[in-house]
This record gives sequence, C-alpha cells and structure tokens, in this order.
Amino acid sequence: ASGLLKGKRGLILGVANNRSIAYGIAKSARDHGAEIALTFQGEALKKRVEPLAAELGGHLVGHCDVTEPATLDAVFAETEKLFGTIDFVVHCIAFSNKDELDGRYVDTSADNFTKTMFISCYSFTAVAQRAEKLMPNGGSLLTLTYYGAEKWMPHYNVMGVAKAALEASVRYLAADLGPKAIRVNAISAGPIKTLAASGIGDFRYILKWNELNSPLRRTVTTDEVGDTGVYLLSDLSRGVTGEVHHVDAGYHIVGMKHPDAPDL
Ligand code: NAD
Repeated sequence: ASGLLKGKRGLILGVANNRSIAYGIAKSARDHGAEIALTFQGEALKKRVEPLAAELGGHLVGHCDVTEPATLDAVFAETEKLFGTIDFVVHCIAFSNKDELDGRYVDTSADNFTKTMFISCYSFTAVAQRAEKLMPNGGSLLTLTYYGAEKWMPHYNVMGVAKAALEASVRYLAADLGPKAIRVNAISAGPIKTLAASGIGDFRYILKWNELNSPLRRTVTTDEVGDTGVYLLSDLSRGVTGEVHHVDAGYHIVGMKHPDAPDL
C-alpha cells in the first residue's frame, strides 16, 4: 500500500461480483488508501455487492440503473451526503443484447443500437454531469473501453461502435472539464472473463488468441487493471487527460499473428 490515494474519496459504478473489473479497481483503490462508495444494479446484485463493500471497508450508496436517471441522481445525492465532495468516479458499465453480440454488425436493430449506446456511452456523460458538481477542487473520471473500438473484432459488433463513441466522449469531456482540473481518461482493458464478457460470442477464442499473440504472451487480470486505475485516479497522472491507456499485455501494438504462436 503506497498511500497514493490517501485522503481521496470516490464512487465506483459497475461492481457485479468479485470478477468485475470495477471490483479490481475498487480493491486497488482501497489498498492505496482511498475511501470508496459502490452501487449495485438491482436487488439480485445487491446480495453480491453488499459483502464486497463490507470486505473493502467501503460504503453502499444504492441501486443504480443508468436507464433510470433518477437512480443516478439518488446515488450522487447519497455520495454527497456521505463524502461532501469527491475526488474520483469510476464508470465500468456496458450493456448490449446478447443475441447481437454474435453474427454480423450489419444486422444490428435500431432498438439495441440505441440501448447499447445509451447504457455503454451516454451514461458516462450523465455521470460526468453529476460528478462535476461534487468536484469543486478537481478530480479524475475513469471509464473502461476495449480495443474493439479501434479495430474490428469478431462478435463485438455494436459494442465496438459504442466504445468508439465512448472514447470520443472521453476526449470531449476532457476538453470541457479540463479548466476545472477534472481529468477524464479511459483504460482499454484486454479481454477478461467476467459476467459481461460471457455475453460475447466465442469469448474463449478471443482470450486464447490474446494469450498466444500479445507481447507478454498472456492475458491481463482485474488486479492489473485496478493498479493502472490507481495511477489514473492519483496525482501521479496529474498531467494526463483525454487519454485511452491500454492495459492489454501489449496486444494493441500487434499487427499480425506471431510466427512462433501456435495455430488455434
Ligand atoms: P461485469 O459484468 O462485471 O460489469 C458490468 C457492469 O455493468 C455490471 O456491474 C452491471 O450491473 C453494469 N450495468 C449494465 N447495465 C447497466 C445499467 N443499465 N445501469 C447500471 N449498471 C449497468 O463485466 P466487466 O467486464 O467488469 O465490465 C465492466 C466494463 O469493462 C464494461 O464497460 C466493459 O465493456 C469493460 N471491458 C471489459 C472487458 C472484458 O474483457 N471483460 C474488456 C475491456 C473493457
């Protein structure tokens, strides 16, 4: 524990269970001294998130479903009651209908396009609007993206399009909030087996491909994403904003299959 986040308080959205990337970030943030508040999506997940909040010595600030803006208002009001002002918000939220995370992007329905964009992209802007009010002394906003925003990936489809929009929104939010010393960044994580990832077609193949072809010849863990999260939430990264930082064992630099990598 470095104490890098000592005295800092923040809200972390998107813990579903102990395999969630949000949990990895919450744990690293706590280990480095932060005081954290967590939300849960619905009563079913409350049962899972409650013990995790207790384990991390954190607070639960209520149900948050970004498709119900009143719940977002309520968790920010609760966070303000708890902390007064805050130093960071971490957004680890994405959703698309499972049947469209398979097959062809061209077949995306208007309904699911809108829903995916709203939950996976707009919600970060909705979070930023509310966070700004609780950050009179500046702060750090962090979201999670994936390489499928930059390059075509099998089955990622409309989620890739939503992540591209999310990465663009990181830049626009960074420009808007920079004068208030609020920094806005994203981590582009390599594939990790989580609840959300299990909705993506043939995810095991994607994991294996990354393991065989990334420069580090492995995939990454939520702990590793969490530790990079600490850097982006802490004053160590005070000169960094509008950035998409890859935590993917280097996979994003790879142009083609390594000749030494076995065939899949
Ligand atoms: P996860 O299933 O643990 O977390 C997804 C979270 O999104 C859940 O907590 C869920 O409750 C929340 N969520 C979905 N719809 C919501 C809504 N309407 N309102 C509020 N919350 C909602 O999976 P994860 O992989 O940890 O996902 C976290 C983030 O990381 C996502 O943005 C995901 O796209 C991103 N990401 C994941 C990977 C990966 O391989 N797992 C890679 C890169 C980026």
